[in-house]
Amino acid sequence: MRVKENLEAVKKKLPAGCTLVAVTKTHSPETIIEAYNAGHRIFGENKVQELLPKYEQLPKDIQWHLIGHLQSNKVKYIVPFVSLIHGVDSEKLLEEIQKQASRINRTVECLLQVHIAREESKFGFSETEIENLIDSRALPTLTHVRIRGLMGMATFTDNHEQVQGEFRTLKNLFDKFHQTWHDDQFTVLSMGMSGDYHIAIREGSNMVRIGSAIFGAR
Ligand SMILES: *Cc1c(COP(=O)(O)O)cnc(C)c1O
Repeated sequence: MRVKENLEAVKKKLPAGCTLVAVTKTHSPETIIEAYNAGHRIFGENKVQELLPKYEQLPKDIQWHLIGHLQSNKVKYIVPFVSLIHGVDSEKLLEEIQKQASRINRTVECLLQVHIAREESKFGFSETEIENLIDSRALPTLTHVRIRGLMGMATFTDNHEQVQGEFRTLKNLFDKFHQTWHDDQFTVLSMGMSGDYHIAIREGSNMVRIGSAIFGAR
């Protein structure tokens, strides 16, 4: 696998200011080190049980993002080191992150996952749920959680227009909160994977999560 070449090819396609999260799920530490040796430092895993051993084995200057669905009972394992949690999809999860983070006096950065796909299976808040959350009294109590932005996954389809429409919906929501919710830390819009990041960046993504285009098929 030509990890270094793939990484460079993907980076060339990203606009300035767009962060690349190299998604390493199912790949070995040896493969990940190839990207690390090429200078990359931001990696994403979707499962806590896979992230923990990789965090232990790999260099400590890696910024690990948790990109998948997170269960409340696993929060405590990642809170000490995780750099960004992408898939926050309930108030209960936010409260658990707050609880564990305050215990060790660390502030944990999070993205709220929004359900934009038509598929039932994708996790996330609806637009109304996010509005309620942002207006709710719960937010000021989250002293050790920093909500940095939104994350979403489009429907897995080759219908380009549908994917584009879903990303556009998320971008509009992001802009709305960015403007109305006076928080200058709310700056991250995580959308786009190997198959659809070309569309996502055209729709205004500033963080893409890319696995197979760098490390090959899983
Ligand atoms: C696996 C995964 C990705 C990357 O998928 P590729 O198609 O390999 O680029 C992005 N986001 C999430 C949440 C994932 O689970």
